[in-house]
Parts: sequence; C-alpha cells; structure tokens
Amino acid sequence: MDLSYTPEELAFQQEVRDFFEANLPEHISAAVRSGTELTGEIMQEYHKILSAKGWLATTWPKEFGGPGWTPVERHIFDVESNRYNAPRIVPFGLAMLGPVIQNFGNEKQKKEVLPGILSAEDWWCQGYSEPGAGSDLASLKTRADRDGDYYIVNGQKTWTTLGQYANKIFCLVRTKFDGKPQEGISFLLMDIDMPGIEMRPIRLIEGGHEVNEVFFTDVKVPVENLVGEENKGWTIAKFLLTHERTGIAGVGISMQAVEELKALARTVKRDGKRLIEDPLFAARIARVETDLEAMKITNLRMLFQAQKQGHPGPETSILKIKGTQINQELRDLARRALGASAAPFPGHVTDGNLALTPPDAAANAARYFNNRKTSIFGGSNEIQRNILTKTMLEL
Ligand SMILES: Cc1cc2nc3c(=O)[nH]c(=O)nc-3n(C[C@H](O)[C@H](O)[C@H](O)COP(=O)(O)OP(=O)(O)OC[C@H]3O[C@@H](n4cnc5c(N)ncnc54)[C@H](O)[C@@H]3O)c2cc1C
Repeated sequence: MDLSYTPEELAFQQEVRDFFEANLPEHISAAVRSGTELTGEIMQEYHKILSAKGWLATTWPKEFGGPGWTPVERHIFDVESNRYNAPRIVPFGLAMLGPVIQNFGNEKQKKEVLPGILSAEDWWCQGYSEPGAGSDLASLKTRADRDGDYYIVNGQKTWTTLGQYANKIFCLVRTKFDGKPQEGISFLLMDIDMPGIEMRPIRLIEGGHEVNEVFFTDVKVPVENLVGEENKGWTIAKFLLTHERTGIAGVGISMQAVEELKALARTVKRDGKRLIEDPLFAARIARVETDLEAMKITNLRMLFQAQKQGHPGPETSILKIKGTQINQELRDLARRALGASAAPFPGHVTDGNLALTPPDAAANAARYFNNRKTSIFGGSNEIQRNILTKTMLEL
C-alpha cells in the first residue's frame, strides 16, 4: 500500500503551510508554545482568521459553507496547524452542534444557527454532564417543563468547557419523567444571557479555568429552540458524541508532542549523558512513536469510512482510547524528563540544574497535568471500551 501523499495532496500541504506562514500572528503561536491557558480573545481571533479563509468548519460539507476537504486534506491541516503552533479549534459549535443542526435541525434553525458558527461570532458550549450524570448520562435531571410556547428549565450542568466565553449553550434536558430514562430527553438551545442562567468557574489541577458549572433557575426558553422532536434528544446526543470522539484522537497534537519530547530528551542531561542516550528512555519514545504511526493510519481509515457512510460510527471509540493513551504517554515522558522541575505552576520551578529555562519546564508540567482530562472527557475510556464491546462485538 502506498501511503505517500499524491502531488495534489503535497500541493495542498504547501498551501496550508503558506497560509500559516502568512496569516498566523506570532503572538498566537507564542501563546500556544508557552503552554499557558489561552485567552478567549486569542481563540476567537484565530477562529476569525480561519473563517475569513473559509477553513474554519473543516468537517462541514460545502453546501453548509465548509471547505469540502477529503479526510487526507483534513489530516494534513491538523498536522500542519499543530506544527505551526496554532490553537486547537474549539469544537462545540463546529464539530458538535453544526453537524447536529445539519442533520436534525429545521430550516429556520439551519438559517439562524449555522452562520454564527461559521463566522465565529457565536461561541457555543456543551451542557450534557451533571453532578449525578456523567458516564450514566441518561440519568440527567435538568428538567424542562412545558408552559405554553416556552419550556421552563431548572437544574445544573457541570464541566462546561470554556463556558465563560460562550454566548450560547446546547443542553440535554428531561422532558418526560416516567418510562425509560433515554426516552424522556430533549435537545435544547439557549442564550447564556437568558435570565436565570448562572455560570461559576471550576479550577483544574494545573490552576487553569477551563471548565465551569452552570445553574438554571426558571429559565424561559422558547419551544422553537427545541432541536428535533421532544423526547427524541437521546438519538441526537449519541450522534453528537461520535463526532466529539473523532476529534479527541488528536493525531496532529501528538505528532508535535513527539518532536517536543525528542528535543527535550536531547537537552536534558542525567549523570552527564543526554537523556536521549539512555536506552530505556529512548525505547519508550520509540514505542509511543510507533503507536502514533499506527494510529495515524487507523485515523485515516476511519475518516474515509465516516466520509463514505456520511457520519462517524462507534469505531471512533478506538480513536478516542488510543489517541488519549498516546497523548498522555507523551506528556508523561516529558514530565519524567523534567524530573523535579515538573511542577504545575511557574512559581514552583526552582531546579536550576536542568538545561531548561523554568518557563519551558512549567509549560511541560502544565500540559502533563492538564492532559489527565483527556481519558475522562467525551466519555471516559472505560465507557468507550463498553461501547466497543456492545456495538462492535454485538453483545
Ligand atoms: C476537563 C473536562 C472537560 C469536560 N467538558 C465537558 C463539557 O464541555 N460538557 C459536558 O457536558 N461535559 C464535559 N465533561 C464531562 C465528561 O464528559 C465527564 O466527566 C465524563 O463523561 C465522566 O463522567 P463523570 O465525571 O461524572 O464520572 P463518573 O461517570 O462518575 O465516572 C467515574 C469513574 O467510573 C468509571 N465508570 C463509570 N461508569 C462505568 C461503567 N459502566 N463501566 C466502567 N467504568 C465506569 C468512569 O470511567 C470513571 O473512571 C468534561 C470533563 C472534564 C474532566
């Protein structure tokens, strides 16, 4: 099998490189390189740069304003954007809600919701998880009671990523209280500034403010904000999750992380020798790099399959598990290379013996701690194994 790029794909790769050379501002790539938390302004600025080029909605079909890329072109864009230290595209509107509206939304919703995502004017966040409903999502309790032309929403969501920058939220709510839990869930769109919505920050282990909890008290939501049919939201919820998992594999991020890890292992010295010359450490790098090469192929194979059938299937759980394992192993090796300097906050780094400046050490440490999340969100890796067992082995 010939896995090299075709001349057209190589030309596309060059076009992407030229684009990043000319259009990615240094302050944005410097912020990504630093490993510190990106501000909402930086993420929005990057989204608008891509939007102006027509490259923001990388997975959307042309009819909805996407670039109509093939899976290989999307892969090339992913790899190059990481190589140039571009931020990750915030997925909630683009990779999650967009496909939902395209497949389940009515014409009015397509007209009203999709342009705001495509222009990067609207920032959506995801209101799925609740304090008592994470892995067991169907047990969610946030309720929407019908009152004439409105739903009255009460309850709480949690772990709402980047909700502090969002002006909109899509939520799973309970609209039926008897029968099977899955058959009483609906998918509702809300504006964050609706009276009765309150957002509070949750701090992550490395100190970042990336997630929030959201409280709903008698929030009046027009019935026209319902996507699909009442009580049929579970089908939409599952459709969205398969899209979410495809993106979490993070091939481009891990390819960049391998390069950074090798650079680190060439810099750091143990017992007078460079760490890369330690056969045990070098073997661990080689093993994770081999895994990554295998996942690149699997990722492309699944992207092609998704393109053929029109949507990703349950096999995206494989990408989610393997992709996050690889990424966490890479960050773990970087942490090991740093030794005592692997403290999560810049202020904690005092070890002057390493051939690293403290800010580099802090960035690596922060990435290690921050990446503990990847095997949990989007459905934990244990839950992905359950999905694979049930759906692929047809148990
Ligand atoms: C950083 C971060 C960002 C997130 N962002 C969002 C967001 O934007 N929007 C959103 O809605 N949610 C978000 N989440 C929530 C995420 O989807 C949940 O954390 C996840 O689904 C796990 O649910 P839980 O935290 O309630 O853990 P639990 O469901 O309580 O699970 C606890 C542990 O038990 C294991 N477990 C549970 N059930 C089973 C089972 N049946 N078989 C085997 N093992 C099991 C789990 O794997 C886990 O290890 C985010 C989470 C994190 C950490």
